[in-house]
Amino acid sequence: MKGYLKRNSADDFKRAVNSSSNIVIVTHTNPDGDALGSVVALSSYLARQGKTTTIVIPNPYPKNLKFLDPRGDVLIHTRRRVAAERAIKFADLLIALDFNQLKRIDELEPIVRASASKKILVDHHPQPEMEAFDLVISNTEVSSTCELLFWLIREIEGGSVSSIPDISAQSLYVGMMTDTNNFSNSVEAGTFLMSYELLLHGVDKETLQLKVFAGFTEERMRLMGHSLLNKMKILPELGAGYIVLTKEELERYKFAEGDTEGFVNMPLNIFGITISALFTEKEEHIRVSLRSSDNFSVNQFSRRYFNGAGHERAAGGRLFMAVEDVGKYFEESLRKELEEN
Ligand code: 5GP
Ligand code: MN
Repeated sequence: MKGYLKRNSADDFKRAVNSSSNIVIVTHTNPDGDALGSVVALSSYLARQGKTTTIVIPNPYPKNLKFLDPRGDVLIHTRRRVAAERAIKFADLLIALDFNQLKRIDELEPIVRASASKKILVDHHPQPEMEAFDLVISNTEVSSTCELLFWLIREIEGGSVSSIPDISAQSLYVGMMTDTNNFSNSVEAGTFLMSYELLLHGVDKETLQLKVFAGFTEERMRLMGHSLLNKMKILPELGAGYIVLTKEELERYKFAEGDTEGFVNMPLNIFGITISALFTEKEEHIRVSLRSSDNFSVNQFSRRYFNGAGHERAAGGRLFMAVEDVGKYFEESLRKELEEN
């Protein structure tokens, strides 16, 4: 299977790994299934090659992904600052997965910039920060970073993933499954081929599906109900819908990281609604999640109005304003964006 990687990518990647002894693998803030799946998959794969790696992430991953890191090997910067920063400082190779701008790793950004390590990016978002990396393996025509990593590992392995570790196969599958929202978005022909090969490898898809999509708390389901019944605002004339959740509401429903995952997709199930947004109030900012189901680019929309970026149909960002003003700001920004395009 050719076409997912540039001609020398696999060789360049392999060479960099072979000539390094302190390898650190990093992914973005608020890691999702693709982020955690890709770092764990690569780390286990490299361990099989005799390479020891350290995984560093900026902040905790959602509880339902704990099974990907059963021994708690992943270094979480907000919990183990010194160890996480030391690992990056003394790395000779840093591999960044599932993000493409260093500002996506927040407080780790200056530490990564200051590190003398060689830096490799493997990612599927548009417009990578090329200057920040020595080697960029980027393709937006795949479902997920896990899919791109699958093609990379497969190429290095000579066209078959049959001998990769079980944990790598499983983690790659989880990342693809979550980034496609269980095979509903960004699924390409290659995504099925990847799934086919991983299932042949022995991945137990039912168990993974249960672990990832049926591991929520009662409070999370109630928060979803509250969001749909009381908070979702629909703007039929703009083909848009949005939900704003305040800190008080999140606390009321015992919010845990990852609980609002998927909420942003819900307005898109309404006939005629093709643009959707979810705003959640955090300590110091409002987290923004944007989706579109047609040609409206939420990547551009986020870059212009929400201090963020992402894919054409799935993007995120941050707002720094009172939560009460967010709805009005969204409606006005969307009107402007639609008028100008
Ligand atoms: P989500 O809405 O699921 O948090 O994010 C959707 C997509 O947008 C993901 O691919 C994610 O990497 C990207 N994204 C989310 N938040 C940000 C952000 O603050 N900055 C940038 N550049 N991308 C983001
Ligand atoms: Mn991803």
